[in-house]
Order: sequence, then structure tokens, then C-alpha cells
Amino acid sequence: MNEPLLMIENLHAVIAEDGSEILRGVDLEIGWGEIHAIMGPNGSGKSTLSKVLSGHPAYEVTDGDVWFKGQNLLELEVDERARAGIFLAFQYPVDIPGVSIANFMRTAMQANRPDEELDIFDYQDALVARMALLEMDGSFAERSVNEGFSGGEKKRNEILQLALLRPSLAVLDETDSGLDIDALKIVSSAVNALHRERGDMSLLLITHYQRLLDYIRPDYVHVMVSGRIVRSGGPELAHELEAEGYEEYRETPV
Ligand code: ADP
Ligand code: MG
Repeated sequence: MNEPLLMIENLHAVIAEDGSEILRGVDLEIGWGEIHAIMGPNGSGKSTLSKVLSGHPAYEVTDGDVWFKGQNLLELEVDERARAGIFLAFQYPVDIPGVSIANFMRTAMQANRPDEELDIFDYQDALVARMALLEMDGSFAERSVNEGFSGGEKKRNEILQLALLRPSLAVLDETDSGLDIDALKIVSSAVNALHRERGDMSLLLITHYQRLLDYIRPDYVHVMVSGRIVRSGGPELAHELEAEGYEEYRETPV
């Protein structure tokens, strides 16, 4: 475990459809068990970074490397990345009409460990326990994934997936957006409980509000502007950004 969990070096990525460059040389290293936050103005490339890490087909990597547990992440297929232990909670989770949370989660968990058959009773116990952790009503298990869910319910469902899939790296893209303060507290305390439970799980929190970081305290904060990380620091950097905004960074030549 001496090598970092994730190492991103000079990552450049374009939109596959039209070739316009969004990531312009991202460098980031995340150690085992560390909590990192990326902040930055809208449109700076934060979601693109998370989608590129998960292997989203809308983006093409044109330069740089990403190492995950010493493996070349960019050579792995989407499902291989998930099995290797990367989890992404989407900023805009999609609906899956006709597929219940219970079935969806069972399929996802089984896909993550293809070599052993998931015990259905263990699975149900885990599902019930994790839904309780997120204060989700048990009836949600039978509802179609995200269909008719409020913004906050969708975000909780993303964290339910995180709780059940037990990745090594969880990337939470704007998990705080659309949450009222009570839901934010529930989600944050669930994420903190999961992190305590598995000290080697790392988190990458993407947010443009400092509010989330009052509840999930990062070890490191990075500022992303125009597709690059232009500054890194400790948790105090989040407060500074909240007070002063991103204006000074807009001047940063790229
Ligand atoms: P952030 O998450 O920091 O707000 P994004 O990564 O979502 O930023 O987007 C960065 C920029 O790239 C924005 O200008 C956005 O419109 C553009 N962009 C990202 N993905 C696509 C896409 N699939 N098609 C067209 N434009 C995109
Ligand atoms: Mg975004």
C-alpha cells in the first residue's frame, strides 16, 4: 500500500464528439484512506474529470496517465474500473424505469464479484441495514431506481450504492446539490460512517459549496479552473474560497 491509490498525471481530455478540450493537464494524487475535495466554478471540468475516471464514452483522453492501484486505469473498460474499486456518484443520476432498487443493487453487487455467488439473505440484510443508515424508508427497495424520486432521494440512493458496493475510491459529484440541510446531514453522516468503517476507503468530493465540507472534512482541497488544478491546500482553503470566490483564479493564465 505504499503507492498512492490514484495518480493522475498531466491528464488531457476532449469531448469525443467535437474534439474541444476540457481537461488541460490535471495532476492529482490520492492516497489510501484520504479525503480530497475539488472545488471550482461551474464549467471548470470537475464533472468531466469524474466521468473520464469512470470511463464515460463521451470523452476521449488525449494525453497523460491515470494509475489506480498501480494499474493503468485508462486501459480498463467501464465495468473493469468498477470492479477495480472506483465508484462514481453522479451529479445527475439517471432513472431506470422498471428496475427496482433491490434488483438493481443485487445485480451491481454480483457484477462486482463475479467469482462468488451472492447470498440472497446476506444481501437483504445488508440492504436493510444500509437503507436504515441513510434513513430511507424500506418501501424504496421496491421502487424503480430514481423514477419519480426527489433530488434528495436520488442522492441518497447514490450513497446507498456506495454503501453496498464498498469501493476503494468513491467520487461524489455534487452530492450536496439539491439536498436540504437535514438530508445533507444524513448523507454526510452516512459517508463519514462508511469512511470510519473502512479506513482505507478514499473519497473525492466534488462541490462548489463549502457547506458539504463542514460535514465531511477533507484532508486536502484543490481548486479546479479551466480544466486544471490551479491550487491545493488543506481544509482552510475551502473557507477562503467561500469568502473570496473564484475570481482571482479566473485570471490564472492557462
Ligand atoms: P463542472 O462540473 O466543473 O461544472 P463540466 O465538467 O460539467 O464542468 O463541464 C466543463 C465544460 O465542458 C462545460 O463548458 C460544459 O458545457 C462542457 N462539456 C462537458 N461535457 C460535455 C459534453 N458531453 N458535450 C458538450 N459539452 C460538454
Ligand atoms: Mg459538474
